[in-house]
Amino acid sequence: RLALLWLRQDLRLADNQALHAAMADADRVLPVFVLDQEAGGPWAPGGASLWWLHHSLAALGEAYGKLGTRLILRRGDASTIITELARETGADIVHCGMAHEPWLRRLDAGVAASLQADGRKLATHRVATLFDLDGIRSKTGTRYGVYTPFANTCRALPDPEQPLPAPKKIAGPVRLPNSDRLEDWCLLPTAPDWAGSMRDTWTPGEVGASRRLHDFLDSRLDGYGASRDIPGDPKGTSMLSPHLHWGELSATQVWYAAREAAAKLNGVRAGGFERFQGELLWHEFAAYLLRHNPAMPEDPLRPAFARLPWRDDAKGLQAWQRGRTGIPIVDAGMRQLWQLGWMHNRVRMITASYLVKHMLVSWQQGEAWFWDALVDADLATNSASWQWVAGTGTDSQPFFRVFNPVTQGRKFDADGLYVRQYVPELKSLPDRWLHEPWAAPDVVLKKAGIVLDHDYPRPIVGLDEGRDRALKAFRETVQHR
Ligand code: FAD
Repeated sequence: RLALLWLRQDLRLADNQALHAAMADADRVLPVFVLDQEAGGPWAPGGASLWWLHHSLAALGEAYGKLGTRLILRRGDASTIITELARETGADIVHCGMAHEPWLRRLDAGVAASLQADGRKLATHRVATLFDLDGIRSKTGTRYGVYTPFANTCRALPDPEQPLPAPKKIAGPVRLPNSDRLEDWCLLPTAPDWAGSMRDTWTPGEVGASRRLHDFLDSRLDGYGASRDIPGDPKGTSMLSPHLHWGELSATQVWYAAREAAAKLNGVRAGGFERFQGELLWHEFAAYLLRHNPAMPEDPLRPAFARLPWRDDAKGLQAWQRGRTGIPIVDAGMRQLWQLGWMHNRVRMITASYLVKHMLVSWQQGEAWFWDALVDADLATNSASWQWVAGTGTDSQPFFRVFNPVTQGRKFDADGLYVRQYVPELKSLPDRWLHEPWAAPDVVLKKAGIVLDHDYPRPIVGLDEGRDRALKAFRETVQHR
């Protein structure tokens, strides 16, 4: 008997419930990945995600080959391909991971219906979250819209099930169906090749994910509580997000490994663990929000904010995307994003706040840029986070909170390591002026060899002016409810 394993965002062998169920069901398993760039519409993987996907699939294909089966690659309408492949191989069951993305859930419903019409079945398994999100409700039975009570409820639940080991051997089908060649999908950039720093930074795939996890837990979990907010600290956070997004390791594996590492540390230091666990629960909360608010990527969770008078500012948006806003910490973040396909969380908040508040450009435009540029682009976390920063979500973040990027820069990049790395034209400015070069006396600028407007722009929006304009717009929108 043969079972199909339809892989999507669970590109791993260990702790993969769908793979495990397929192996329990049948003596032969055929894994397949379908690249369907139509079904996702605007939320099909962006450029940086496709770069990641290429390398992750290459690693997974090799791993499956070593175990005895072959990863089949197909491109096109996933619904048709999966049904036809099941028919061709005689598989009466298709296993896959449970998705939170509305477009994937629609696709799954379509595939389930067409398989059923053929006398076959689609079985979905929880592969991405720690807990069964559909079962999480408050004591009065309502759904959570705010993180803290959600996280408290999660912490009180029984532990997630222990992670499953990777299989040692998988028998494949007797006759292999055709597969595309990964290279023919052309997922990598050619000219210009923008992925140089990404290649230096990341090792997509399960092996790279596990190495990064253990490197973080072995040496950095203890200091995480303090260092996680310092973008210039190269060891501040785990950088696991793209691995988690693509399911190269599961949240459950991370949860247990972190707990084990914390147990080895003494009680005082294990504080970093609580904090880290809290971040995994933010990830969980975003998936929960998207499951129950499928329009979250497009529409504000609080409908009143749909009427916000966003500015149409193509030139400003481009300056933000390219890291040329004239605000050093914002520009450093946007350049880090372009180079690594990743940005530090603190700076994601600062850059996003500058766009939606100071520039009054819609969060949806920032969300779309992040979607294309992030290797960890995740529909749930990206949209929930943009709404959180904009203050248009249901969480407790109020709309009148406006990050001051100069204060934030001084506080979290006090020694200027981060700004100097990504905005090297400012590197000779003393710390005192690094986060507000426009305010530096002429003599300081001259000594640092900086001519404003020529070497580095002045702010495209003044901080006070932008803040006042945003507060007025948000306040008026709320009052007109
Ligand atoms: P660590 O600090 O090491 O945390 C461990 C894991 O916890 C992360 O890998 C991630 O899975 C989860 N996590 C950490 N912080 C958050 C958070 N604030 N919300 C939800 N989960 C979190 N994260 C994405 O994975 N994909 C996105 O598309 C994404 N878009 C974002 C957009 C904006 C505007 C903002 C403010 C945040 C966004 N985040 C996103 C959340 C967060 O910035 C990243 O998860 C984090 O920076 C990843 O780095 P890390 O793995 O080193 O995190």
